[in-house]
Amino acid sequence: MAELRPYPFGALVTRMFRELDERQSVFDLPLRKVYRGDPQRDLSARFQGHHPSTPLGPAAGPHTQMAQNIVLAFLGGCRVMELKTVQIMDELDIPRPCIDMETVGYNVEWSQELKLEESLDEYVKASMLIEMLVASGKLDLAPGYERVVFDMSVGYDLQGIQTDRVQAFIAGMRDAGTVVDRLRKQIPREFAQFRDLDFATKLSDTLTLSTFHGCPPEEIELIMRHLLADLGLHAIVKLNPMLLGPARCRGLLNDTLGYTEAQVPDTAFENDAKWPQVQAFCERLGDLAAERGLGFGVKFSNTLIVRNHRDMFPASEKEMYLSGPPLHVLAMNLVGQFRATFGDRWPISFSAGIDKQNFPDAVALGLVPVTTCSDLLKAGGYGRAPAYLSNLSKAMNACGAATLDEYVLRAYGKAEAALATLGLAADDPTRAACLDALAKGGDLAAAAVERFADWVSAAKVLNTEVYVERCTADPRYAKAQNDKPPKKIGSHLTLFDCITCDKCVPVCPNDANFTFDLPVDSIPVERFTYRDGAWQRSEGAGFTTEKKHQLATFHDFCNECGNCDVFCPEDGGPYKMKPRFFGTEADWRLFGTYDGFHLRREGEVEIVMGRFDGQEFTLWAEGDARRFAGEGFAVNVVDGAPTCEAPDEGQVVDLTYFHVMEHLRRSILHTLNYVSTRQDVAARQAE
Ligand code: SF4
Ligand code: SF4
Repeated sequence: MAELRPYPFGALVTRMFRELDERQSVFDLPLRKVYRGDPQRDLSARFQGHHPSTPLGPAAGPHTQMAQNIVLAFLGGCRVMELKTVQIMDELDIPRPCIDMETVGYNVEWSQELKLEESLDEYVKASMLIEMLVASGKLDLAPGYERVVFDMSVGYDLQGIQTDRVQAFIAGMRDAGTVVDRLRKQIPREFAQFRDLDFATKLSDTLTLSTFHGCPPEEIELIMRHLLADLGLHAIVKLNPMLLGPARCRGLLNDTLGYTEAQVPDTAFENDAKWPQVQAFCERLGDLAAERGLGFGVKFSNTLIVRNHRDMFPASEKEMYLSGPPLHVLAMNLVGQFRATFGDRWPISFSAGIDKQNFPDAVALGLVPVTTCSDLLKAGGYGRAPAYLSNLSKAMNACGAATLDEYVLRAYGKAEAALATLGLAADDPTRAACLDALAKGGDLAAAAVERFADWVSAAKVLNTEVYVERCTADPRYAKAQNDKPPKKIGSHLTLFDCITCDKCVPVCPNDANFTFDLPVDSIPVERFTYRDGAWQRSEGAGFTTEKKHQLATFHDFCNECGNCDVFCPEDGGPYKMKPRFFGTEADWRLFGTYDGFHLRREGEVEIVMGRFDGQEFTLWAEGDARRFAGEGFAVNVVDGAPTCEAPDEGQVVDLTYFHVMEHLRRSILHTLNYVSTRQDVAARQAE
């Protein structure tokens, strides 16, 4: 099974800035797609004592696993990073593929695939890279659009959370000074101007608790108490859609929305916390947080357990987790239920089927943050996020709102009804000022003065009622509109050439797929046999490259989630069929069942190690000299033919792979990609 490998920080910095200069993109996201902010409006939100520049975030999941993912989310306009859940069991064996985006979105994913210490490093790296990007001025952000909040996520039980290693992770996020100092030293000389940046070290003081489906409510409460009372963190508890109860949950999913094939097992309800239990622990935890001067909140929602009725995941997986459009409706109904009980007493984080169309609605309900995952896995990847924010700006513009609070009041025309709930007398001057400001497009906060927060709260509750009803009846969430898989064209991928649509690059949450150029060429099967004192050449059909533009996968970032296979119009899966490059020789050897390549430099010598159908070859290139070795042979290649001192009669040398490896060497080691940058930075450090 593939394993994610963190990329050296110095190389990540180098890759980021070189790509920005050479290609006007960052981690394969073109600069023209980067969200720059809205200079006309204030999209900033309040979140647990912080003021992120936008309420948008990537949900804890595949988009917040590695440093480059978080940078890409930032570039898309996300400013609340819900970091992927960490837990004490950090050597997981996750079934692959683990993401199925053919229709609504299913997964069998779990928590961070990196070790706890690596996760901490990745999050600190991400924070530093973002700060360097902002400090460089190359993003041209509108003023105030650089503020970002990192929200931790831990799981899954109290015993695990209390272990030294998880506690060290949390402590490290709260004070990352040591890690920052270590990484600061790794910033290459070429970017020495960033070494003295005043990097943030207090990376996070908020945490969203993720518990297992079926975690007893007593355990959830104990963990939350630990986070609030023992650790002094702002704490949010993520709740499950099963909280709707079997009748309502199944009624919405199977009957109203028509996903009849998605069956929620009885055990999912039996084991989970029930509404009265959740209601009771929210009261107690809210009081505890208030006593301590900390924030308490809830998050809707976790994914929904359903039986594995599809053939994407291994048959051993009896259950899988549903997300996307149907979860949006379920989670919004829970928001409605929660608000009907508690009003706007506690903040609500929201993540379920968010996309550019419904993001402005979720913001109109006063949900913060509003995070997304399934939609960013679709064609365009992180490049889809800026449209969420431009749609929000458009919606704010349409109703004349300059801030998110004003937007909550004006979005659904509920401001007057909300005002009526505040108990202001008919002749109260505040009431008159509010009505006047509403009618004339005036400053609502200035008009309402100290009643503004109450007014906004009342509007959030009224907007929730409107939207829950609307989204539940909206056909865009029903099965009929979410049942078509991405189109396949019937051809099968090969090592080289494809229709070069490049869809596989942005759909990879880890930026593992990349493009490179090869000369258009025909590489014959070229076999030399030493006979009668000379090399006899025979030739057959071999590899052809009909296109200059080629695709490859960087093994270190590919966890075989399967997502690029779903969106590739051809069959076979880019991550399985395209050339795979390993960052280190050790990994090339360790993952010996995978065909692929490792390229490196040793002084003036460029080395390519290649594996084709399990056969291993090595190519050394120094100036014009080439040496090529495989099982049972080692020859110099001069003028396209093998030479060696004393070949055995009958010895066979197949140069086909020599030519492939030579083409790859010339391209991969001499253009910008994760393979070459790592080698360049290592070589410079060795100087
Ligand atoms: S591998 Fe598939 S998705 Fe990637 S460029 Fe080729 S055809 Fe498109
Ligand atoms: S390359 Fe494909 S399979 Fe690998 S992590 Fe990226 S999307 Fe998933």
